[in-house]
Amino acid sequence: MAKIARSTCTECHRILPRTQMRQVEKSYHSGNSWGFNKKGQFTSVRAYTRKRKHWVCDDCYNSGGGLSWGGVLFVIVAMILGVALLGHL
Ligand SMILES: [Zn+2]
Repeated sequence: MAKIARSTCTECHRILPRTQMRQVEKSYHSGNSWGFNKKGQFTSVRAYTRKRKHWVCDDCYNSGGGLSWGGVLFVIVAMILGVALLGHL
């Protein structure tokens, strides 16, 4: 049997076989380029973005990528606490 390559999920940091993962391209900010004219006056700033490939597990991919389970849990707890506090007022 062929050995399946494994990668670390960039969202939850679990190490999983790539058959359970997806490769996604993410752009990230790599720096700014400042523009000046001949008089040395500032004219413009240009932001550069680069693309990098990441391995993300199916769970994180399906959850939208940006929001982790910790983040979801925090929102739920905050909502419950909010409702509980409002109920006591
Ligand atoms: Zn993951």
